[in-house]
Amino acid sequence: MKEIGHWINGKLVAGTSGRFADVFNPATGELQAKVALATTAELDAAVADAEKAQVAWAATNPQRRARVMMKFAELINAHMDELAELVSLEHGKTLPDARGDVQRGLEVIEVCMGAPALLKGEYTDGAGPGIDIYSMRQALGVVAGITPFNFPAMIPLWKMGPALSAGNAMILKPSERCPSTSIRLAQLAQEAGLPDGVLQVVNGDKSVVDAILDNETVQAVGFVGSTPIAQYIYGRAANNGKRAQCFGGAKNHMIIMPDADMDKAADALVGASMGAAGERCMAISVAVPVGEGTAEALIERLVPKIEKLKVGPYTGGADVDFGPVITAQAKARIEGLIASGVDAGATLVVDGRNLNIQGYENGYYVGPTLFDNVTPDMDIYLQEIFGPVLTMVRQDSYEDALKLVMDNEFGNGTSIFTADGDTARDYASRVNVGMVGINFPIPVPLSYYTFGGWKKSAFGDLNQYGPDAFRFYTKTKTVTARWFSGIKDGVALNFKALD
Ligand code: NAD
Repeated sequence: MKEIGHWINGKLVAGTSGRFADVFNPATGELQAKVALATTAELDAAVADAEKAQVAWAATNPQRRARVMMKFAELINAHMDELAELVSLEHGKTLPDARGDVQRGLEVIEVCMGAPALLKGEYTDGAGPGIDIYSMRQALGVVAGITPFNFPAMIPLWKMGPALSAGNAMILKPSERCPSTSIRLAQLAQEAGLPDGVLQVVNGDKSVVDAILDNETVQAVGFVGSTPIAQYIYGRAANNGKRAQCFGGAKNHMIIMPDADMDKAADALVGASMGAAGERCMAISVAVPVGEGTAEALIERLVPKIEKLKVGPYTGGADVDFGPVITAQAKARIEGLIASGVDAGATLVVDGRNLNIQGYENGYYVGPTLFDNVTPDMDIYLQEIFGPVLTMVRQDSYEDALKLVMDNEFGNGTSIFTADGDTARDYASRVNVGMVGINFPIPVPLSYYTFGGWKKSAFGDLNQYGPDAFRFYTKTKTVTARWFSGIKDGVALNFKALD
């Protein structure tokens, strides 16, 4: 059985704990590897070495660090297909989707090529008599990234880019379900010129996460995963005096106004809810048709589109629309939630349970599922399903729809489909959700904006990437300077005196 260890000081090393997690191929259900789960001692040693390596890395001028990012981007591009295959093998998503996973991470690395400009300080000339004030942005030291299974390339790259280009060292703890992509990315970063020890990939589960949170050298934690864990990590990190940005789960609503282009809205809904088997934190999982006849108009268009979707393994060719979910447990949970929706009285329009794919009977497949007449008290509305399940919650008016979204505990993404500019503008400005789409289903901002949900979708700092992420990964020092000290018999120790 293949064993996946850690990437420490520029080398692959085996784990020493004797504890492993199983890594499955979700397409076939086969156990394909075991990943080592690090001990606290292994983590502490990785942090200590990272702390040493960070000193020289922070002293490397920002332009040289940016050049490492340039080369890294070039290598990611050159290895795009290989990385995508690695993602699909452990995650199960289709190859085009896996390429998108790598691509959206790569775009953050591209922004980090501009780190020298993004890290500039400020200067006030003549803030007082003979006094100037300036500020500088200094790296924090060793920071940590803890990432989920659903974007094995993109999210580790979101973490690495700003943290490393700002001069920090990083401990990356990827999901134990999909650990290989992070290790491969770390190898490419080394090839791009990143010094050994500056990026350590430490695999593990809760116990190594706790060790990261309790390690005094680790200055900041960037977490992405489910809401209960995000909230837990935020609390423990903050309690230990660390900076934290902890992104959690979601329940993203799309409002469809009666004046919307129904064909476009239905198209958008299918892709946004079923794509990647619904395992996206920005997936639309709730459609909110507004007014008389809107739900019917949508269902009439959605059903034939949904019935045409092909579910299968990533090796199944270009016509596979989406793959399996991540584990047998995830499949059982999703099917259980579908059953709970039926029991609660929602109308099951398309049932994706008991999907059998010939030759892949042990894969974790769930078919596309559509519910109508869902109400906000049902579990299928309240819980993040994280599967290819679209629920429809009908509302009578725009204000009712807005209230539904506002009252939901999550606030990651939302969208509105309408032909009316006033309504769209009103929605974008009033809704209490961090990322909003107007006639655009999954509003993940491009890499030069910031990514961050609101409410229970994120805790702490909200700037996952974009220029503001450089604030999270640096501390600002301000210097108030009177350059002319006027000592030594009236001879000022100024620049003139020094030359
Ligand atoms: P998860 O919370 O189970 O795991 C995320 C990370 O936390 C993993 O590295 C895991 O090893 C670690 N972890 C798990 N349990 C832990 C515990 N008890 N204590 C400490 N660490 C623990 O999430 P997942 O299932 O890997 O990912 C799916 C979730 O991530 C979904 O809820 C999805 O919405 C969310 N997500 C959010 C965003 C975002 O930006 N908001 C992006 C992608 C995914």
